[in-house]
Amino acid sequence: MTLGTHTAPKEHHILGACPHDCPDTCSLLTSVQDGIAIRVQGNPAHPHTGGVLCTKVSRYTQRTYHPERILHPLKRIGPKGSGRFARVSWDAALHDIAQRLQSIAARDPQAILPYSYAGTMGLVQGEAMAGRFFHRLGASQLDRTICAAAGGEGLTRTLGGKVGMKVEFFAQSRLILIWGSNSIASNLHFWRCAQEAKRQGARLVCIDPRRTETAEKCHEHIALLPGTDAALALALMRELIVHDWLDHHYIEQHTVGWPQLRERAMAWTLERAAQICGVPVAQIQALAHDYGRCFLEHQPAAIRLNYGMQRVHGGGNAARAIACLPALIGAWRHPAGGLLLSSSSSFPVAKAALQRPDLLAGRTPRTLNMVTIGDDLLRDSSPDFGPKVEALIVYNSNPVAVAPDSGKVVQGFAREDLFTVVLEHFQTDTADHADYILPATTQLEHWDVHLSYGHTDVLLNRPAIAPLGEAWPNTQIFRDLAQRMGYTDTCFADDDQTLCRTAFPSVDYDRLLTHGFATLPLPDAPFAHGNFPTPSGKCEFFSAALAAMGQDGLPDYIPNHESPESSSSYPLAMISPPARNFLNSTFVNVDSLRSAEGEPLLEMAPGDAADRAIADGAVVRVFNDRGSYVCKAQVSARARPGVVVGLGVWWRKLGLNGCNVNELTSQRLTDLGRGPTFYDCLVQVEPLVNALPTSQFESTPTP
Ligand code: SF4
Repeated sequence: MTLGTHTAPKEHHILGACPHDCPDTCSLLTSVQDGIAIRVQGNPAHPHTGGVLCTKVSRYTQRTYHPERILHPLKRIGPKGSGRFARVSWDAALHDIAQRLQSIAARDPQAILPYSYAGTMGLVQGEAMAGRFFHRLGASQLDRTICAAAGGEGLTRTLGGKVGMKVEFFAQSRLILIWGSNSIASNLHFWRCAQEAKRQGARLVCIDPRRTETAEKCHEHIALLPGTDAALALALMRELIVHDWLDHHYIEQHTVGWPQLRERAMAWTLERAAQICGVPVAQIQALAHDYGRCFLEHQPAAIRLNYGMQRVHGGGNAARAIACLPALIGAWRHPAGGLLLSSSSSFPVAKAALQRPDLLAGRTPRTLNMVTIGDDLLRDSSPDFGPKVEALIVYNSNPVAVAPDSGKVVQGFAREDLFTVVLEHFQTDTADHADYILPATTQLEHWDVHLSYGHTDVLLNRPAIAPLGEAWPNTQIFRDLAQRMGYTDTCFADDDQTLCRTAFPSVDYDRLLTHGFATLPLPDAPFAHGNFPTPSGKCEFFSAALAAMGQDGLPDYIPNHESPESSSSYPLAMISPPARNFLNSTFVNVDSLRSAEGEPLLEMAPGDAADRAIADGAVVRVFNDRGSYVCKAQVSARARPGVVVGLGVWWRKLGLNGCNVNELTSQRLTDLGRGPTFYDCLVQVEPLVNALPTSQFESTPTP
């Protein structure tokens, strides 16, 4: 679409959507001249984007035209993992892939596993044609849990789904708790709302083990120990109870299980919570007073919860405990009060029409959890497990870098008897282990449609330029493979625009074509009068559904799998949030962003570093029973005592010892949702005796 007049005669602008795993889902405006994308900017007409993109995506053209972009199908010519490939034709690659998959499927299609996540958040290049293909094949299903499963489950069991406040109303809040989120780095457009609220006199409190850029700019920072958020929430509840800062009418009308929750919360004295959370009593007390005062003064109090806090053993319960707080003070009565973790359940996605689970035709393949890919690739066939995984099709993901316990993941991917196909833009750590790498298009080269988990607009992505080289959209790859496998179902003929329309039958597609986005018609204060999408229609302090599954019906504090008291060998808790210039493992190979990031770092509190004779900038070994990771120490007040921060997610081959922080993380799962426990990880740190020469850092190899 051409918008308005421009100084350069041939320049035109195309509306799109940011595809990355970020709650903001920005509307993009790509400037194109002579078929080349010359600039990607935020769409000023989209209120949530406001013409502003983050540093990463404002450099999207650098990524698209990166000299190391994979532009032709490649076939492995060296040992697994060697990264040695030769160019082949699409026809040869797809013919061979289809034959290999057919031969495995003839024995048992469950021996084939798709592996994908949010490399694009697009519904079309994500699981639309891919879902149809794997359903028709009868392949193993993948439990896509690696990011948000525990918090999502906790929220769903409490509020009824991934629903909450509209992000724009945070600008009118009086008190904002930014809980488990470095918003400046990973939720920038929410941060604009928080800044507006601050200008209007709101108080901002950041709850995060790390003193992030966001924490620095809030009025208060509560640096609790990782995995103790539920203890903090329960103590806040007790303070609300003992001071009677409770909206009794709201609780009575719109909640379930108050007497039981009240009894549980009363066991959480300030002193008990302070001891577990590792923060002063006075800080918890002050936070409770701030929250209670909003009730007394009829002022809106809002919580922006994010997924960092739920990547621990008790992450689901913690999200549940926090999600109970707004109902206690009736915060939901205000548009600017309540909580937002994710808005994704607000979207009327026609998932079955897109992904066609009916193509399973009565078959019920097993489901493997993407978090335990390390163990699962190393399992033999057994009655419990089913067939050994013989083929892996990876798209929109880089599991060798991002999955936990990566020593085992690498071992699995290195199996010579595993047939691996990777759809990618670059030769990532995962692509290094492929039998075939298939060149995928970027967001500038294909159609897609997007929901958001941070606002409530649907966005359409138009292709701005033609595919580079021989790159194909994921949809085209699965469409072609389906044909070669002999699948004649008409759904495999759907083109990408048909899939875009299919995703949202109730959204005006013409509006999407014209404006690039469409706002869902949702109430401003969705739970002012209850109407939670739970089985009871109320906020479920007590979840009968959880109780029926043998779980605790009430939220509780569940200690980490790995708590410092449990180990003398590994006394430091490690969290591994994304480095500011990376988005998970995306953008690590964009030179300007990697240069801004520098090198793999471990932030350490001054006392913890001094105890180990570690100076700022020293090369250190971070280790536990799972592995050993070499990086540079940054002695910094960003890390609280007892907690180190390994910034991720570096590509392994760009690390100092050929691995990244996931060498240390575990495959253990969360209490709810079978999610990962990346931030539930004990380590020890020591200076590296034979320090690597400085030149090793300066000549970081490119992939
Ligand atoms: S990563 Fe997030 S902030 Fe950056 S452009 Fe995409 S949606 Fe916007």
